[in-house]
Amino acid sequence: MSVEAKIKKLYSMADNCEICPRKCRVKRNDGNIGLCRAGNKIFISSYNVHMGEEPPITGEKGSGTIFFTNCTLKCVFCQNYPISQLGNGREVSVEELSGIMLGLQKKGVHNINLVTPTHYSAQIAKAVYEAKNKGLNIPIVFNCSGYERVEVLELLEDTVDIYLPDIKYSDNAAAYKYSGVKDYVEVNRAALKEMVRQKGILKINENSIAESGVLIRHMVLPGNIRNTKKSLDFIANELSTETFISLMAQYHPAYKSSDFEELSGSLKTDEYKEAFDYLRELNLENGWQQEI
Ligand code: SF4
Repeated sequence: MSVEAKIKKLYSMADNCEICPRKCRVKRNDGNIGLCRAGNKIFISSYNVHMGEEPPITGEKGSGTIFFTNCTLKCVFCQNYPISQLGNGREVSVEELSGIMLGLQKKGVHNINLVTPTHYSAQIAKAVYEAKNKGLNIPIVFNCSGYERVEVLELLEDTVDIYLPDIKYSDNAAAYKYSGVKDYVEVNRAALKEMVRQKGILKINENSIAESGVLIRHMVLPGNIRNTKKSLDFIANELSTETFISLMAQYHPAYKSSDFEELSGSLKTDEYKEAFDYLRELNLENGWQQEI
């Protein structure tokens, strides 16, 4: 299938929307709003040169980050909740989005980093295609929750160079309780396998900059160490011990996390250490850890 045909197919999937695994069948192309609160217009909250991503994404010149408004998940601890849940942002056309990407490239960034892009997959594929026709030639990073449909990822194969997905849960009860979806584990695992099939292990060039591949993020949640260990087991046993992992310690209570006792405090040093020791026990040596 040509890139143009894939973009067309992605747009048609929003007729009765099935862009994400929620498949809420809302007629987005007629302007209706889905469970993710997205309709047929693109909303972004900001774009900038970001210096805080993992080393091969940030490099010396930064990552050209574009934050998309709304989200397919409803995480009670979301640190970006004004954007993801409260809809902060402004409308941009596909043409403007394309221009933003080219403008970021002009600033010298190492990549275009699309944050929470899933629900805008069709518009993003079109914007990237148009930008590439006008000279965009840096890697495209799909920085997502990992709650993705394999069918959509297949249509994004020509658009994306680096997948930067989360593995949030290995327990559907926790996924439902904290993010409002009952099938995160199966969906996420199938998506991660598809990402690895497409792009393989993260490739880092001689200048220490990521060029293509998959980098998986896992944020350790307080009171949920078993969830973390099962997530790491999956990566080691069903993907590869070569997989690059960003083990994140940056949890802090936000949004509705105070409704859950275990999420009301910060992550403890011991919990993060236990997660890190387990990572090493599984011989998962590629990636980055954070100071707690
Ligand atoms: S992307 Fe949004 S509108 Fe489409 S299926 Fe998912 S939640 Fe529904």
